[in-house]
Amino acid sequence: MNPTLSSPPPRIVVLGSLNMDIVLRVPHAPDAGETLQGRSITNVPGGKGGNQAVGCARQGARVQLVGCVGDDAHGRALRDALAGDGIDTAAVRVVPDAPTGTALVMVDDAAQNRIVVIAGANAQLEIDEAALATQLAGAAFLVTQFETPLAQVGRALQVAQRSACKVMLNPSPMQPVDDAWWPLIDTLVVNEVEARMLAGLPADTPTEAAAAGQALRARGVARVVVTLGAQGAVAVDATGARHHGAPVVKAVDTTAAGDTFLGALAVALGSGNGFDAAVGLGIRAAALCVTQPGAQPSIPQRDAVLRHTS
Ligand code: ATP
Repeated sequence: MNPTLSSPPPRIVVLGSLNMDIVLRVPHAPDAGETLQGRSITNVPGGKGGNQAVGCARQGARVQLVGCVGDDAHGRALRDALAGDGIDTAAVRVVPDAPTGTALVMVDDAAQNRIVVIAGANAQLEIDEAALATQLAGAAFLVTQFETPLAQVGRALQVAQRSACKVMLNPSPMQPVDDAWWPLIDTLVVNEVEARMLAGLPADTPTEAAAAGQALRARGVARVVVTLGAQGAVAVDATGARHHGAPVVKAVDTTAAGDTFLGALAVALGSGNGFDAAVGLGIRAAALCVTQPGAQPSIPQRDAVLRHTS
């Protein structure tokens, strides 16, 4: 059965990074000193904060985004794209002295990626605690990741606790988690690499991921999801660990798969659905995402997920 969308839809506050992904298609990666004719250049909205906000919005949530962009064309394009998804960008600050976050993605003919990320304005994110508390009052989740300064993420978790708002954390790119943060996290979403590094246990198979998830849960997190790429995901809560397989699809680009998963998970949980039904929706949404190239353009709408995978 499909997870339901509550009425009114859940409100979700996403705090995180906004990047313009500049995707260069090249025959091969240039060597040092080599000048190469590329095949194409495309600007694609990305950044984990933006992607997760879009993932939530396209599942029907009301989304408020907290982040930073530079005072430049990329920043304006990112804000316009987010607004086009109905996302409230009033708390996206335009910083005067840094460029918009940028990911330079070079994709060669063998589909190998080489990526350089410039944090730019994302590194200037600073929490306005009073404003964030107002946003979090009555919200279903604060969703956040590790592409903005960790000290600010930590402050946001404290504000969420004071505001009685649940936190969904995706600690990516992986950095150690402050021990004091574990009890502040309701739902931890990690891929196999993050699970292994945080738990200190292998997490490549569903059985291993279940053990790693249990170890992380023992630190005080209410629920853990370990995503396993084409193997689906493992859901861990107080009642145990369950593996959910992924549908077999023709994967062309997994960019934003994890963010799509997380968005659908947050909206389904925020609508009052059970954990396993919510994980199932995340898996179905992410399976569609990997069939399309790019970050935000590949995140499917709710209707498409329910139509194609029910
Ligand atoms: P990314 O960083 O690329 O966004 P991730 O490393 O955070 O992804 P993954 O575990 O690779 O997360 O993928 C997230 C989810 O996407 C998986 O749990 C699975 O449901 C789905 N997924 C990823 N790859 C595939 C695939 N090849 N086929 C079907 N589903 C997939």
